[in-house]
Amino acid sequence: MRKLISLLALVLATQAYAQKSEEDRFVDELMGRMTLEQKIGQMNLPSVGRNVVTGPIIKSDVRALLRGDRIGAVLNVQGADEVRTLQQFAVDSSSLHIPLLVGLDVVHGFRTIFPTPLGISATWDPENAALCARISAREATTQGVNWTYAPMVDIAHDARWGRIMEGAGEDPLLGADFARAYVRGFQGSLSGEKDQMLSCVKHYALYGAPIGGLDYTAVDMSRTMMFNLYMEPYRAAVEAGVASVMSSFSEVEGVPGCANEFLLKDVLREMWGYDGFVVADYDAVGELVKHGLGAREEVTARSANAGLDMDMCSLYFDKYLAQLVREGSVKEEVVDNACRRILKAKYRLGLFEDPYRFCRKEEGAGLMGCAEFRAEARAMAPESFVLLKNEGDVLPLKRNTKMAVVGPYASEAANVIGGWSCEGGQSSPVSLLQGLKNARATAVKTAQGSNICYDRKTQALWTGSRGMAIVPDPRSDEAMLSEAVALARRSDVVVAALGETADLSGEGASRTDIRIPDAQRDLLKALVKTGKPVVLVLFTGRPLDLSWEAENVDAILNVWFPGTEAGNAIADVLLGDVNPSGHLTATFPRSVGQLPYYYNHTPSGRPYDGQIKKFISTYYDNSPEPLYPFGFGLSYTTFEYGEPRAAVQPDGTVKVEVDVKNSGKRAGKEVVQLYVRDVVASQARPVCELKGYEKVLLAPGESSTVQFTLNKEMLSFYNYRMEKVFEPGEFLLMCGPNCRDTRSVSITLR
Ligand code: BGC
Repeated sequence: MRKLISLLALVLATQAYAQKSEEDRFVDELMGRMTLEQKIGQMNLPSVGRNVVTGPIIKSDVRALLRGDRIGAVLNVQGADEVRTLQQFAVDSSSLHIPLLVGLDVVHGFRTIFPTPLGISATWDPENAALCARISAREATTQGVNWTYAPMVDIAHDARWGRIMEGAGEDPLLGADFARAYVRGFQGSLSGEKDQMLSCVKHYALYGAPIGGLDYTAVDMSRTMMFNLYMEPYRAAVEAGVASVMSSFSEVEGVPGCANEFLLKDVLREMWGYDGFVVADYDAVGELVKHGLGAREEVTARSANAGLDMDMCSLYFDKYLAQLVREGSVKEEVVDNACRRILKAKYRLGLFEDPYRFCRKEEGAGLMGCAEFRAEARAMAPESFVLLKNEGDVLPLKRNTKMAVVGPYASEAANVIGGWSCEGGQSSPVSLLQGLKNARATAVKTAQGSNICYDRKTQALWTGSRGMAIVPDPRSDEAMLSEAVALARRSDVVVAALGETADLSGEGASRTDIRIPDAQRDLLKALVKTGKPVVLVLFTGRPLDLSWEAENVDAILNVWFPGTEAGNAIADVLLGDVNPSGHLTATFPRSVGQLPYYYNHTPSGRPYDGQIKKFISTYYDNSPEPLYPFGFGLSYTTFEYGEPRAAVQPDGTVKVEVDVKNSGKRAGKEVVQLYVRDVVASQARPVCELKGYEKVLLAPGESSTVQFTLNKEMLSFYNYRMEKVFEPGEFLLMCGPNCRDTRSVSITLR
């Protein structure tokens, strides 16, 4: 048997070698026929947008660029016909007949939309990320799109930053697992299948740590924090074979990602051995001028020399690179390397064989938004919903409970899919009311209660995205409020569907106030005043400050932006057909003033002891502890944890076991978490770090022993000399349902 396996491995390796050399031969031959300008052409990625390519007509400037072999890829075109027209023009009118990469932000769905990525991470099951990516790729690749700008794997500690919604939260282990899963889902084996697409990990690096949580500002971070807490997800994507990397807008140590030699060369290429191509973020090369790094020519040379292979949108490579090569500021070899990497990616997609392989309109019509994909989206959403509070088991509700469904999200259907949602608007997203109706809840009444916020102009700004406008109700705020309060009084329970609009988190949506917007807060207060039980169904892209809500409402179900099947999935949970099982992957703070916050911080020399007083590590006006810790999430059932056990194995690994029992009356899924603290080390180590997790389904009364294995690599860290070290000694191993409520066992390792 073993012999057979080695033989098979040999055959596969030989095949891979033959394939690789064929790819190399092809690219070498092609490049042998290319001029310097044509090679540079492959390095340009303009946004041509829907308004530019309309049906079979291509705007003249794009035509001119294509005819002159000056574009290697385009972004923001979708639709099989549009892409076909463009590809045809590229192939027929250019002298080299090289097809285009067609890129788009296919982030959490193309037509069928899944929960936003922070929600998907809250499922604590990376297979959900793989499934979302797989279905997204199957849909998008019928519509001409062969390259997605995903996954976004930026670790974020600051909920003021709107793009926290696009990633997997604050933990490097989870971040890495989700990064690998997305890449696998989008790319598969990347061996020329028609439903596999190039993936692009972004935003390399550290885009999730802008100072003050303000988008597009600089990052200033120690190297130990960089490598212990932030880099792992990017590295994992590279290890998983991601075909492209997008550099970040952020200045890291004074130099933005697209011109940062340390990031692009020392780390990405040398430390991690990355061999795909690097693309800049939107106009980032052009923006280097505003960062004060020099004139246009200078910044062009700087990015090319730093290792940037493709320029998104500024067209500076198109304008200046050839001249820079001629005068010797950039070596021709730099252009050759970049061009080769890009052509190889096209080869792997099978574009040279058939440039139209991703334009399959008829197939797409039957596939996109099909019942099977929608069913997957519906099943995934409750796994991402985080039940933050459920006082007196107010949830689940009975089908005949007299419900007042109140708030701007009661009947909202457009915003429930969240940002970066491609064609999701055409997937007939389901509102909460529609979902309850579909589920045959028999006594549902509704009132809007408030607009998104009081100020009309602000509401217009916050609902600015195409197809996501929420037109303010023309009635007075008082009239809306009193209607809702009167309805609440006549009902048994109030379901308040409130939160952020899709546009209020995401890119360019940093906030200084992370509470529910004003008018909705006042509505909630008025509803609570009626004395009726209030269930808050919270739509949000980011952790919010829910300190008032946590004290005053009976139940909080955080649904993020659930996607196409939003209303059906929420109804499934509210009515108890499905037990929610999401756990937080980003801490919910008590106040915006606690940010940035991250659970895996090092200990203070004057730790908080539960009392607010002087000269210890607390705020003088608030606890330093978060409202809902990392890993937190309730269920309709309860789980009991035993004491963890640990033993060193003969091979030096550590086996950790913990018994978990479903002590309630319903079946439910629990996310069992293992944290580690390196008790004594040569430098301060985090109070706890996630080192293992498993989501287990338990029937009422059922117990399970969950096992984890730790090795020395998992317990090592980067010290201030940038050496990755394992330091023997005592380790505290903590198991529990979140990072706070754990039980521990200590072990000594040599
Ligand atoms: C964003 C990227 C995105 C790109 C292309 C940029 O503004 O930062 O995440 O991939 O636009 O749409």
